[in-house]
Amino acid sequence: MITLYVEENNPITPGFYNSVLNNLQFHQLKCPCGQSGCLSVHGYYNRYVKTEDGKVMFRICRVKCDQCGRTHALLLSSMVPYSQISFQDHLQIITAHEKETPSNITLSSALSFDESNFRYIIRMYLKHWKQRLISERISVDGESLISSCFQYFKRQFMQIKCTPNILFLNTT
Ligand SMILES: [Zn+2]
Repeated sequence: MITLYVEENNPITPGFYNSVLNNLQFHQLKCPCGQSGCLSVHGYYNRYVKTEDGKVMFRICRVKCDQCGRTHALLLSSMVPYSQISFQDHLQIITAHEKETPSNITLSSALSFDESNFRYIIRMYLKHWKQRLISERISVDGESLISSCFQYFKRQFMQIKCTPNILFLNTT
């Protein structure tokens, strides 16, 4: 998959996703195989992300590389692959946990997920990510969290499966 970097203050809406794709310079995209300018639209699939407005459906674009023949989903850096919980919500839950805030804290988007989502994310964080961040001295509070995770671990923060994922910074 290919993660398109977007500023945190952008909305997680299908409209915003579509506008990022419309403005994307496809020829600049790099395939995880290392080739550039070889990706074209292959199709779309639906996936859901829980937001303050409830479960919202995104039509995710898939591109195919004419060099290696693989297909890759185009996601936003505000998403976490395979998860319906947004990156920001992941971060909020983990930050609250790290600060040992009581779990009954009123999270700003508390309506978008329930207690079991909350506990699951903490469990995945402790199992797959906490030690890994410590080993590279990456802070969950740091501004470079996303780019550091791609640099050191070749995936989005809190991505659990090891599917190759690269960060594309040149979104306008
Ligand atoms: Zn390729």
